[in-house]
This record gives sequence, C-alpha cells and structure tokens, in this order.
Amino acid sequence: MELLKQRILQDGKCFPGGILKVDSFINHQMDPVLLYKVAEEFIRRFQDAKINKIVTIEASGIAPAIMVGYIMRLPVVFIKKKKPKTMENMLTTVVHSFTKDRDYTVCISSNFLTPDDRILFIDDFLAYGNAAMGVLDLVQQSGAKLEGMGFIIEKAFQHGRDVLTDAHVRVESLAIIDSLDDCKITIR
Ligand code: 5GP
Repeated sequence: MELLKQRILQDGKCFPGGILKVDSFINHQMDPVLLYKVAEEFIRRFQDAKINKIVTIEASGIAPAIMVGYIMRLPVVFIKKKKPKTMENMLTTVVHSFTKDRDYTVCISSNFLTPDDRILFIDDFLAYGNAAMGVLDLVQQSGAKLEGMGFIIEKAFQHGRDVLTDAHVRVESLAIIDSLDDCKITIR
C-alpha cells in the first residue's frame, strides 16, 4: 500500500533491536484518514473470504480493526491482555511479547468467539508471530474458523509469516519491512 509505505518512510522511527516506532500515526497518536484507507485495503484483499467477525488484540489493533468492522458492518472483538474477574467462559493462552520481553496470558470470552464464527484477525505489527499464534490457539479452542490475518506492517526479517503459513494461516500485510539494519528503513 503505497500511501502507507510513504508514511512509514516519512514518519517511522527505527530503534535498536529491530523495533520500528510508528507512534505519530498508528500506535499512540492515530491518523484516522490513513487508518480508514488501511481498513479499505484489508477489505479489498479479503473480499473473497466469508467473514462474520473481526478479532484483534489490545491495544494497537483496536483502531484499524474497528475501522474494518465499521465499513463491513461486522462486530469487532478484542482479545484482552489482563484477565478481568468478571469474564464468563474465558479462553486463555500465553503469548511471549518481543517488545516487552515477557510472557503474558491473554483472554477472550467464548461468548464472543463461537463455532459459528469466521474470523478476520487484524493487528498493527507482525514480527515473530507470537501474538498471532496465540490468537490462532484461541480461535482453535473456540471452534471458530480463521479466514485470515491482516497486518498493517510486517517485519519480514523476523519471519512471523513463515510460522503462520506453516500453520496454514492466510496472511496479508500492507507494508513489508525487509530490514531495519543501521537504523535505515528498507521497505519491499
Ligand atoms: P510478534 O508477536 O509477531 O512477535 O509481535 C507482534 C506484536 O508486538 C504486535 O502486536 C505489536 O504490538 C508488537 N510489535 C512487534 N514489533 C513491533 C515494532 O517494531 N514496533 C511496535 N511499535 N510494536 C511491535
């Protein structure tokens, strides 16, 4: 997606350890016009899929996911990173966070992820694929079907796509970063 690539080159900032900061337009301050266009592009790419629900993970996936849900008129559910005391019928899995270097338990209520659901998962980044594999585990526990996963930015050099395609997950990324070596952003 050309507009997104230009924006990453213009406003993205590189940090040691292969981290790209996009907090001036996606992750902290958000550009709703760009995120709306991002959502339209996800919908175009998954137009052949039969989706009835959008799933994301808090916090940064929520904004693009709700744009997709709004345009498609579909419900959006976000996976929580803290277990609420009041959640009914909780499904959980453990995810390793690469940016925070720790494991955490994520959860979703099986009231909102059911065997009738055909899911499109949306997130901001695909890095090593740990979060996405956790999502796949939750979807499998629930009996729902995963139609595909859409990422705004994929860091190809961390190989999350390989992990997901080995698990037969369809992956679409709108900007693919080939390298952040020497703090230079190289986009495919
Ligand atoms: P993974 O589980 O694929 O290793 O990492 C995906 C998650 O980590 C994303 O949900 C995202 O929030 C976070 N993440 C991974 N790499 C980056 C990065 O370079 N920049 C930012 N801002 N977040 C990242």
